[in-house]
Amino acid sequence: MILKEHHDPMGAAIWDYFHSGEAERLVVQSDMFEDDELPAACLFRAEAEMPAWERTALRLCRGRVLDVGAGAGCHSLVLQERGLDVTAIDISPLSVQTMRERGVRRAFAADVMDGEREELAGPFDTLLLLMNGLGISGRLHRLPQFLSRLKELLAPDGQILADSSDIRYIYEDEDGALLYDGDGYYGEVDYQMVYGHCRGPRFHWLYVDFERLREAAASVGLQAEMLEAGPSHEYLVRLCR
Ligand code: SAH
Repeated sequence: MILKEHHDPMGAAIWDYFHSGEAERLVVQSDMFEDDELPAACLFRAEAEMPAWERTALRLCRGRVLDVGAGAGCHSLVLQERGLDVTAIDISPLSVQTMRERGVRRAFAADVMDGEREELAGPFDTLLLLMNGLGISGRLHRLPQFLSRLKELLAPDGQILADSSDIRYIYEDEDGALLYDGDGYYGEVDYQMVYGHCRGPRFHWLYVDFERLREAAASVGLQAEMLEAGPSHEYLVRLCR
């Protein structure tokens, strides 16, 4: 599903920030946590400003690359400058428009789950999903189906590079016991973004721990390898056939 322009708060923030050098507050709301702010500047991070595991992921990219949920295109631009053949997709039309203006040559408004899109005719040697890109799957029970779709796009010896985060620590007491009392898995979150008068749709988002990711990947014939752990429960993973 592609977002409608008036329901695309993150795209509006990205568009404003690129065109005027500033943006209003982009607020991330959820039932579980207090309101949080995502500064638009973060989405325009240069390579030197990226966390270490994102720089590692960029270094490992090879061949034909698909940047899934590319946002403002920060990773696509770095890879393109290195001479890689990059395709960037996002469900946010304003983000895609901004990516094109920033110089991303192949940027398309597309949902990665849409099997009909010509631009998504693989195979790709690398699928890149950064800033918790596996979150797009939304729910733990949908993760195998999501990974299986990514596998369809992948060349036989291709790789998926993605990061996620184990958010168990949020619900742990001092002894490490899990205090989560929700219905499902503790990494399942519902979000809504708000930018000025623009309110986006509510959407499901998934933070998954490595062990559950490994199991979901194995169930669709993918092997998961932990490549790097970040300082606060984030990790970078590579999935291959
Ligand atoms: N990768 C970028 C942006 C991450 S935010 C960065 O690291 O800065 C996640 C992005 O995924 C958002 O721009 C959102 O619009 C996009 N997205 C969400 N669901 C998607 C889907 N089904 N297909 C493609 N992109 C999607």
